[in-house]
Amino acid sequence: MNEPLEGGCACAAVRYRLTSAPMFVHCCHCRDCQRQVGSAFAINALIEASRHILLSGQTAPSAMPTDSGRPHNVFRCTACGTALWSEYGGIAKLHFVRAATLDDPAALTPDVHIYTRSRLPWITLPEGVPAFEAYYSARTLWPPESLERRRAALE
Ligand SMILES: [Zn+2]
Ligand SMILES: [Zn+2]
Repeated sequence: MNEPLEGGCACAAVRYRLTSAPMFVHCCHCRDCQRQVGSAFAINALIEASRHILLSGQTAPSAMPTDSGRPHNVFRCTACGTALWSEYGGIAKLHFVRAATLDDPAALTPDVHIYTRSRLPWITLPEGVPAFEAYYSARTLWPPESLERRRAALE
């Protein structure tokens, strides 16, 4: 990644920057993501909160129900409501940035497809990208440097 990636909401009040590449990129086909984005899947770039800089605008969390009962907050632009990132499990140090809000949504490619058991039948998964019926083990799939970044972020 040469340039820092930037993105924002639909009304352009919120602008953000990723100061490095994300640790890993999920394409999630779960039913929750499908409902919340109103589409076939969500693309989440996992990055340290410290590398996800809010440049302008205001966001507010909305709490999403989860099967597990663990918290899931979606942060939205307070002006237009665009969902910009998620925090799962109350872990504020890791952001799941909705990658389609990047100015260049093609800048990131999913490293893994998850919850493919609810993948819509007309979606063809790309060859050569790991795919899992449900969740997966980051420990076995993430590059060592990403695992180290996550470990350091959660300290
Ligand atoms: Zn907005
Ligand atoms: Zn999902």
